[in-house]
Amino acid sequence: MKLSLVVPCYNEAENVAAFQQAVIDAFAGCGYDYEIVFVDDGSRDATLFNLKKLFAVQSCPVKVVSFSRNFGKEAGLYAGLQHASGEYISLIDADLQQRPEIVRDMVKLLDEHAEYDVVAAYQDRRNEGKVLSFFKKSFYSIINKMSTVKLRSDASDFRTFRRSVAESILHLGEYHRFSKGIFSWVGYETCFIPYTACQRLAGQTKWNFTKLLNYAIEGIIGYSTAPLRLATYLGGITAVAAVAYLVAEIIKTLVYGIEVPGYASLIVLILFFAAIQLICIGIIGEYVGRIFEQSKHRPIYIAKEVLDYQSKAEQAPEMDDLNKK
Ligand code: UDP
Ligand code: MG
Repeated sequence: MKLSLVVPCYNEAENVAAFQQAVIDAFAGCGYDYEIVFVDDGSRDATLFNLKKLFAVQSCPVKVVSFSRNFGKEAGLYAGLQHASGEYISLIDADLQQRPEIVRDMVKLLDEHAEYDVVAAYQDRRNEGKVLSFFKKSFYSIINKMSTVKLRSDASDFRTFRRSVAESILHLGEYHRFSKGIFSWVGYETCFIPYTACQRLAGQTKWNFTKLLNYAIEGIIGYSTAPLRLATYLGGITAVAAVAYLVAEIIKTLVYGIEVPGYASLIVLILFFAAIQLICIGIIGEYVGRIFEQSKHRPIYIAKEVLDYQSKAEQAPEMDDLNKK
């Protein structure tokens, strides 16, 4: 198998068939074989049902991995990589924002340039608000300063790479996954190509500001221990400030005598130090929480069903059965 397209799907019922058709059209006459590995990430709509239909018809080789619940896109990518058998593996979304024709170009690049292991697409134009853009830029400048991995701000998960890269990624069994960091961490020679994201075919994006913020925190905590040092610095700075304040108070008392009022400044100080302590405990907590999660050694996902065209005879749901449902 030359190419595996790994496609995480969460509530993409209206997109999966069109996606498959777009792939078939894009790869018609390409001269090599390919498979699509759909991962249904616990969708609540008819995604799985539609994927089973595609599996039953097999217009092109299709595998379907379906999760027992929503585990998130990162888990979907991991499962897809585990089930992909291609020499090249491509990560692509189900909503046709990323055109399969670009994957063809990526494959060509890998074929022609043995020195590259990864071809990653970055968005040359982004259709997003100024506020979101500002937060994204700030996130990348923070993480690039704090962490040893360097991330490109405009790069996406849309990429095609060689088997060796996929195997390296699968070796990283961390529970909290941040794929941009993972790609950067495993290294390999990467060629960046520009692309313009199309409009989503149907349905809605699963990302909102809170989810993006959590994802950004995931990235910073997962790839840097700098926030812990920040806690230490914060502690140090406030300690120095406290000593300076103490000295100032002593001098004031010596010069002007004891002043009874001081309630407001006392409250402000208590609140200030309590806040700093809570921030530091929070930062430490983020790391401890992750150690706790990881120490449980839970699987990254649970697949309730895996449909593989290579052993289709045993598992194929008949078209009639599907239509009856
Ligand atoms: N996705 C997923 N699990 C999730 C959220 C998203 O598998 O919990 C999939 C989704 O179906 C799509 C891809 O990840 O194929 C990208 O999601 P989306 O289009 O919502 O993100 P955007 O393109 O807006 O960044
Ligand atoms: Mg999308």
